[in-house]
Amino acid sequence: MEQTWYSLRMRASDAGRHLSGAERIGRVDDLSSVTAGMVERALACGASAEQIVCTVERIDGAVVHAGALPNLKTWDVPDADTGRCLARTLLARSGVAPAAVDKALQWLAEGPAPGGQVMRGAMLVDARSGRRLESDPARGVRVSRMDVHPGARTAVLSALAAHGLSHHRTAEALVLAGKVLTAPGVLAELCWSDAPDYLAGYVADPTHGYQRITHLKAPGDPRGGRALFVDPDRVALVTLVTYLEQQAVLFDRVGTFHPVETWRPEP
Ligand code: AMP
Repeated sequence: MEQTWYSLRMRASDAGRHLSGAERIGRVDDLSSVTAGMVERALACGASAEQIVCTVERIDGAVVHAGALPNLKTWDVPDADTGRCLARTLLARSGVAPAAVDKALQWLAEGPAPGGQVMRGAMLVDARSGRRLESDPARGVRVSRMDVHPGARTAVLSALAAHGLSHHRTAEALVLAGKVLTAPGVLAELCWSDAPDYLAGYVADPTHGYQRITHLKAPGDPRGGRALFVDPDRVALVTLVTYLEQQAVLFDRVGTFHPVETWRPEP
């Protein structure tokens, strides 16, 4: 008999302000432990949440077994300015126009939601013009229904830890980027966290995988977010958003780890 899967989502907020969120996939036996872990996460996010909402939904459609997570490379940079300079280079290599890169970097630096706030989800950015495509610029698009297969979780987390990547944010971002890179019409993703003490971020694209950049923002900066660069000629927006929000995707192993490389801009 086919396995029954559930989508688990958590959202913590205070007076309407987004504090923390998480999305997982589990079997019926996983539901209570995964939900407990999500509540712990919400409580540990540093601010006291007024509301923690956990949603568990049975997945009725097909689950895509996507195989390996994206290949991973870490670029070592000394500071956020250098990291953003590298991000420009990597995004240009992915086929994103400089104007779109500039706008996305500016939005992430200033806070991409109205009033310079952080968004709950991701911006969708036209990869040529830089136009914002998401219908709600405060919420953005929340990528959901992706995870590592429960049977492979321990091995995947151990492999990441063996490469010095034991922070839970790295594993979660790698899974999220993995799903984004399977989506139709997405050329690349740019992300850095809104957590003030988490300075690393990444550029991901289907050819080069997950390219982690050790500094994409300065310590103490509470702004961050995600930009998904989209070619609107290759996908209808509604198809893309439905895929990102609804299609369940599971990964069962890590990809290739490339050696860490130090990067400095050409003088
Ligand atoms: P985090 O890496 O969790 O600090 O998230 C950084 C930013 O990425 C958040 O402020 C959101 O704007 C965005 N984000 C986080 N999780 C998701 C998600 N599941 N789907 C889309 N965007 C997300």
